[in-house]
Amino acid sequence: MKAVILEKITSLKKNKRPLKLVELAKPAIRAKEILVKVSACGVCHTELDEIEGRTPPVNFPIILGHQIVGFVADRGRNAKKFELDARVGIGWINSSCGHCPACLSGNENLCKDFQATGRDVAGGYAEYISVAEDYAFAIPGIFSDAQAAPLLCAGAIGYRSLWLTNLIDGQRLGLTGFGSSAHLVLKLSRYLYPHSEIFVFARNERERSFALELGAIWAGNTGEEPPQKLHAVIDTTPAWGPVVEALKNLEPAGRLVINAIRKEDTDKDYLLKLEYPQHLWQEKEIKSVANVTRKDIEEFLTLAAQIPIIPEVEEYPLAHANRALIELKQGQIRGAKVLRVG
Ligand SMILES: [Zn+2]
Ligand SMILES: [Zn+2]
Repeated sequence: MKAVILEKITSLKKNKRPLKLVELAKPAIRAKEILVKVSACGVCHTELDEIEGRTPPVNFPIILGHQIVGFVADRGRNAKKFELDARVGIGWINSSCGHCPACLSGNENLCKDFQATGRDVAGGYAEYISVAEDYAFAIPGIFSDAQAAPLLCAGAIGYRSLWLTNLIDGQRLGLTGFGSSAHLVLKLSRYLYPHSEIFVFARNERERSFALELGAIWAGNTGEEPPQKLHAVIDTTPAWGPVVEALKNLEPAGRLVINAIRKEDTDKDYLLKLEYPQHLWQEKEIKSVANVTRKDIEEFLTLAAQIPIIPEVEEYPLAHANRALIELKQGQIRGAKVLRVG
């Protein structure tokens, strides 16, 4: 099968071709696993963190990618959940132990043995992938393969972030950064919180006008002051500036939810602008989001089909994965980037 692989940690500033297209054997499947012929795989900001070593893969070479849509091509002896040819999705959660306190309390995303697709085990930048059937999901018919891909990470984690804000309908929500996840959160919030106004902070004009097109009431640059204070903010940027600015823009008792697996160090000195009275006092809260549970993915897929939330996608052939990643790194974004595989 064709696959693009990462052989070592590298800097995307210096290396514009971090991934290499190769020919590999199809993965083998165990008794409770399915073999999936990949049709589309979303490109996530986390891939940049993996390539640059902020959340490094355990073994090399590794196939990245964790927003996977494809069709069941083979089933293990005891795999009964899906028929052959059924369309399935695979997300960031590849496995969890199932018996630790986190798993038993519904927080399998926090399991110490959490394994991530495309980082700890092979991902979807390839023609085939194997996965435990319990960690694959049926994809509602309303979506094309490419449209469904970003729902599996950007959408599901956006859903989890929104849930963690504790927002009440009518309260004002801010979004800092307006990439793949934020644009889905905007669509989701307009449905779940129809009386809430949404304020978007993004560094480029293209993202800001896209946010206004999708129904944001205000869009400004990072650091610009919104006309009103906000009850909650979801930050999806890799930087520190938006965190400090978001804290300043919160109402008393407001909550900032940081939806990022890692932050980059580029503007870390921005944190020195943090002043206790303006940014933290008044019972303001900060919460990060870690991973997703299977429940997050299942609930979000159902909701996305019902609303419906159809992601805006930009497609690239698998062989152009490097170009998609570099454009993502450079912030050339409109909606979600997806690799067409099959
Ligand atoms: Zn992701
Ligand atoms: Zn566990």
